[in-house]
Amino acid sequence: MTVVPLVFFSLFASTAGLGDLKKIGILGGRVIVYYLITTAVAITIGVSLANAIKPGYGISLKATGDISKILGKVNQTSPSVVKTLINMVPSNPIKALAEGNMLQIIFFAILLGIAILSVRGEKREVIITGAQGLSDAMIAMVNMIMKLAPYGVFALGAGVVARYGIKVIGNLLVYALVVVIGLAIHLTLLLFVSLYGLGRKKPGEFLKKAWGVMVFAFSTSSSNATLPLTMETAEEKLGVPGYVSSFVLPLGATINMDGTALYQGVAAVFIAQAYHIPLTLSAQLKIILTATLASIGTAGVPGVGIVMLTMVLTSVGIPIEGIALILGVDRILDMLRTVVNVSGDLIASVVMARFEK
Ligand code: ASP
Repeated sequence: MTVVPLVFFSLFASTAGLGDLKKIGILGGRVIVYYLITTAVAITIGVSLANAIKPGYGISLKATGDISKILGKVNQTSPSVVKTLINMVPSNPIKALAEGNMLQIIFFAILLGIAILSVRGEKREVIITGAQGLSDAMIAMVNMIMKLAPYGVFALGAGVVARYGIKVIGNLLVYALVVVIGLAIHLTLLLFVSLYGLGRKKPGEFLKKAWGVMVFAFSTSSSNATLPLTMETAEEKLGVPGYVSSFVLPLGATINMDGTALYQGVAAVFIAQAYHIPLTLSAQLKIILTATLASIGTAGVPGVGIVMLTMVLTSVGIPIEGIALILGVDRILDMLRTVVNVSGDLIASVVMARFEK
């Protein structure tokens, strides 16, 4: 119910909110490429770890539908990457919305966000403000639904354990551990290396200065709520010029979610393993592509990452009911992935500041 309007309005509003694309210029192009690359690497780490450690092996979830049809769908909906890219362009955007075709919705929302910037005057402002309002309303709706989450987690968790036995909990722990290991690898190997190599800042020094931001991100589970502190830390402690941080960080809080993307990669492979669905290479590439886009569309508030996971699963053909399995451990993983999301933004601002010089 919430995914399609949430993605559409929030992506449209944040693209339109970038303002004049010409003014964004080189810094904008650079940071968007940087964000996309780090996100894609994050999911690749997640997918590879889940493939190697196989946290879902040993569980036998039964799909409600015909399993051979599902298997067919996973293969059939995993055409070549080129075909996937071509299929991103909807022939009818309303149909894409109605069918929940996420890649097409994302493509259309971004294109519309760019197009609205060439409309002048009040007409443009009304539409952008309206879309921001609707995006906020969708987030409020997710929050309302999340109030029911503890009961849902209880019932679904009890159902899963009753049906598949207590050993499921062992698998869940391994799954959570894979996410945690993946996040640690991404933070230390990719982000810290880029901080040092590209931003010329020592990770130890960064950790000392950014520690408060990380703790805040962990306890709020929200990139958006952390944003004011992230900006202050970038400017006052890490020496990032105001014009860089005020562009790179709000954009990052909206579109750059390395932690979320990595987690979605692990979760998709885990659920597929639990259903005994073998993932071909092209299905895995599709997970990487969709999760990159899904993380762009994920709002920086608690719990949206798992809502967006439905989109990744649907696009590959993995049954979304599998989410019941992982819902119970999601909150703590949300806290951890938000730390990586926010650290990724902060490190990007340091790297970009250096390039500006
Ligand atoms: N809570 C995350 C964030 O705000 C998003 C998510 O993965 O749910 O960065």
